[in-house]
Amino acid sequence: MEKSNAGAMYKKNEMIRLEITDISNEGMGVGKTDGYTLFVKDAIPGDIIDTRIAKVKKNYGYARVENVIKPSPFRVTPACPYARQCGGCQLQALSYEEQLKFKQDKVRNSLIRIGDFEASLIDDIMEPIIGMDDPWRYRNKAQYPIGTDKKGNPIAGFYAGRTHDIISNTDCLLGVPENKVILELVLAHMKSHDIPAYDEKTGSGVIRHVLIRKGFTTGQIMICLVITNKSKKEISDKEIYFSGQEDLIGKLSQVKGVTSISVNINNEKTNVILGDKTVTLWGEDVIYDSVGEISFSISPQSFFQVNPVQMDKLYGTALEYADLTGRESVWDLYCGIGSISLFMAKKARVVYGVEVIPQAIEDAKSNAAENGIKNVRFFTGKAEEVLPDFYIGKYDDPVDDIKNTKTDEAKDNVKAPGDMKHPDVVVVDPPRKGCDRACLDTMLKMQPDRIVYVSCDPATLARDLKILDEGGYRLKRVRPCDMFPQTVHVETVVLLTRQN
Ligand code: SAH
Repeated sequence: MEKSNAGAMYKKNEMIRLEITDISNEGMGVGKTDGYTLFVKDAIPGDIIDTRIAKVKKNYGYARVENVIKPSPFRVTPACPYARQCGGCQLQALSYEEQLKFKQDKVRNSLIRIGDFEASLIDDIMEPIIGMDDPWRYRNKAQYPIGTDKKGNPIAGFYAGRTHDIISNTDCLLGVPENKVILELVLAHMKSHDIPAYDEKTGSGVIRHVLIRKGFTTGQIMICLVITNKSKKEISDKEIYFSGQEDLIGKLSQVKGVTSISVNINNEKTNVILGDKTVTLWGEDVIYDSVGEISFSISPQSFFQVNPVQMDKLYGTALEYADLTGRESVWDLYCGIGSISLFMAKKARVVYGVEVIPQAIEDAKSNAAENGIKNVRFFTGKAEEVLPDFYIGKYDDPVDDIKNTKTDEAKDNVKAPGDMKHPDVVVVDPPRKGCDRACLDTMLKMQPDRIVYVSCDPATLARDLKILDEGGYRLKRVRPCDMFPQTVHVETVVLLTRQN
């Protein structure tokens, strides 16, 4: 039978015995029957199961677990009782050791299948994935939607599957234990003061989300209540947003670590969580956290990596691969709030960062200033536009600017202006879709000695590495890092060096 017609062999509701051999990008179990691929939710590699076919497509289908005939030896009982309903942790039923193995293989296989690299090369250079000692409670940020249960009680939890129905759970095991304490205080207050949860369907109600962030190194906690506030009154510090406000602030401020309490006003009927306006009700506007030697100020809106423990290891690996001695010029493309730029700036002569979101660049600049780091410059724009424009001379080279601000010793180290057209190192950390071709082509023209690629998607990583390899760069080191235990996501750091 032709492969393209394989689906014709199967019918909806048919039962099939299947061995699960892989995990899909979405975290479903994958099994094959006569070359036809079935995706099975809640099944993991090593399981032998009876499945019922739910959907038949030409080349693949979806099936449900009907009966586990022989559970995988790698199966564990999910620590979270809501793991199946929530879907946020796709791999909780797989032992952590196997999760790491799965991620290592996923990167390896992408490099071989999509990147066309020799298996022997990859096996030679690939280093073991950096896992977590304790793969739980690693997230420094939680955004709990608030809703109402059937009895009319306020609840906090997570959206079930792909719906917007809230399932009550105040203690996500990826988040910090303080989340539960804070949420229960908020919910009890809403109940005793009759403060309605926001209703997405009608747009009525008050409390929409509770955002909680924690600085892991400082212990500081920020609580932001996202609310609707339709009154047109001028908003000031004295404004009352909900009944018994002072009472709730009093209780929340007693929770150990809490240093900032605010409201964020979002009057729009939208899925976007935060509105434009944030008002601090108690304590500071920001909390602080540090990664390595760099300290970051974090507001409710700021972007900040959610797993600071692993972020330290990921950037440490990128820094090791960049092999800086203090004399190098470095581009940091897709720099976000400049975390990698600032990390590298301590060890490099000069770092230029590029990022498309203007607010992130503002944060990057103030983080640089707060840390007293002067040898960085940031550009707002798309990497695939800023870099080529810079290369053809559309920007004034701000190296002159740096010459004026640095010490005599640093001035001596500055090569001729135009230096940044041929930097020593280029670091990229693009979103999942990878780098734009124009960005890769300009990187190749710039001929840096080293390229360090930080990736959150092994498939686009492999695609881009193939282009860089064809452009004369050789793959030297590869190391995955587990930034998101219990989920299918994996980050990877790669070093390429110029041939010759
Ligand atoms: N390295 C940063 C963030 C990397 S996430 C950190 O660790 O903090 C990827 C970043 O790329 C995001 O901040 C996103 O806004 C930005 N981005 C997306 N497309 C871009 C493009 N075409 N050019 C430049 N930046 C882009």
